[in-house]
Amino acid sequence: MSKRILVTGGAGFIGSHLCERLLDEGHEVTSIDNYFTGSRKNLLHLMDRPGFQALVHDVTEPFSAEVDEIYNLACPASPPHYQLDPIHTVKTSVLGALNMLALAKRCHARILQASTSEVYGDPAVHPQPESYWGNVNPAGPRSCYDEGKRCAETLFMDYHRTMGVDVRVIRIFNTYGPRMTLNDGRVVSNFIVQALKGEDLTIYGTGRQTRSFQYVDDLVEGMVRMMAAENFHGPVNLGNPGEFTMLELAEKVIEMTGASSKTVFRPLPQDDPVQRKPDIRLAYEKLGWQPSVPLEQGLEKTIAYFRSIL
Ligand code: NAD
Ligand code: UDP
Repeated sequence: MSKRILVTGGAGFIGSHLCERLLDEGHEVTSIDNYFTGSRKNLLHLMDRPGFQALVHDVTEPFSAEVDEIYNLACPASPPHYQLDPIHTVKTSVLGALNMLALAKRCHARILQASTSEVYGDPAVHPQPESYWGNVNPAGPRSCYDEGKRCAETLFMDYHRTMGVDVRVIRIFNTYGPRMTLNDGRVVSNFIVQALKGEDLTIYGTGRQTRSFQYVDDLVEGMVRMMAAENFHGPVNLGNPGEFTMLELAEKVIEMTGASSKTVFRPLPQDDPVQRKPDIRLAYEKLGWQPSVPLEQGLEKTIAYFRSIL
């Protein structure tokens, strides 16, 4: 059955993949975006698709429409971008959540929040299950993002408990793939772009910190399953449990691109988490979901994408 679906942040990296998937399923899709980190280029291939529209709107302002489902993705996700205007980042998460929850309440729409593994901060528990409450600095340079997303989760659960809004909360772990921007600043795109340009790969700190990288198609599948789930509101982790150090990632990218690049070491940003790996047993139990794209396969597609735009 065709639904009217609103995607906030639809012109971003993940949002554009989600819009495409929802259109492929025959839904009417509206993207709203302020184009802070997103780009019209990400949506160009969808512009002529029947049932698609892309509007300019900042989620810190109320939005009115008749919709059946809302995916709330609007928020810069890369540390250099969310730290550019940290106060607006907090407003985007908190006012954006309030505005979209108000819309969901009025329309009786189901609403999904794109939360993040950053709610676990620099985790003292490894891997991270949803029951872990996290270790977040409330007053550091990453706090605008981490605490904004934590507050958004609180708002989602309180709208559910007090007003019966049908919410869904997913905690997304590091996700990569085509349509990340050249200047995104996150590690996968930085390393690939540096390797393809023959530049040295910038490793922050010792490079022994770990992350678990998920290919975007796996995430979108998990998002759609979570939205369709009955009587399950989350929070639920969506991530790939394969865990790599930044040194291992750099080595893999150099090998796969055939670059002659070396690695150079740069200072570790403040509050950079030491380790991160999702416990995904809940997603498997409730959604029958687990990622299917191994790192090398996802990197291959992402390298091909960056080659095509460089
Ligand atoms: P992105 O920066 O590519 O996309 C974010 C989109 O939101 C952009 O199009 C941007 O222009 C838009 N936006 C930002 N502020 C806005 C505002 N105030 N009003 C309207 N639009 C606004 O990032 P992404 O990687 O696609 O992330 C999408 C969502 O997923 C974000 O909420 C992010 O926090 C979450 N997430 C992503 C990752 C990841 O690894 N990619 C991990 C955890 C969570
Ligand atoms: N990082 C790095 N080189 C870069 C960009 C990032 O070594 O050019 C490191 C960063 O310090 C962090 C990890 O890679 O330890 C992942 O960073 P990213 O910004 O991709 O995601 P997040 O820190 O939000 O998990």
